[in-house]
Amino acid sequence: MKIKRIAHLGIAVKDLDAGKKLYGANLGLALKGDEVVESQKVKVSFIGVGESNLELLIPTADDSPIAKFLESKGEGFHHLALEVEDLAGALEELKAAGVRLIDEKPREGAHGALVAFIHPKATYGLLLELCQYPH
Ligand code: ZN
Repeated sequence: MKIKRIAHLGIAVKDLDAGKKLYGANLGLALKGDEVVESQKVKVSFIGVGESNLELLIPTADDSPIAKFLESKGEGFHHLALEVEDLAGALEELKAAGVRLIDEKPREGAHGALVAFIHPKATYGLLLELCQYPH
């Protein structure tokens, strides 16, 4: 598989506006807009850092995975996303290598991306997202 870059770091927050104020006004980074991802029950806000981004995440429902994360661990680092050229192919490679996956098939993420998560048990505790953007 070919990994192109760190696409984003996901950070779970309880107050999106406060997070945007910190990274936008205080740190001077570019706010790139919000988007609700219905399938994952989250609202995300992207903040540009060079060729990468920060992705602030807040839950849109009580049964959102991010709501559960905030409840058990509090605010903070949630996942790392790597951009790949061919997500379906990457997942096939990982499956064949016996790497434990959360998503065996690509699903829809923010910004029209296809995304899939690798299980943290396979990555030394890191929740790793692979994503593929349409070009
Ligand atoms: Zn993400």
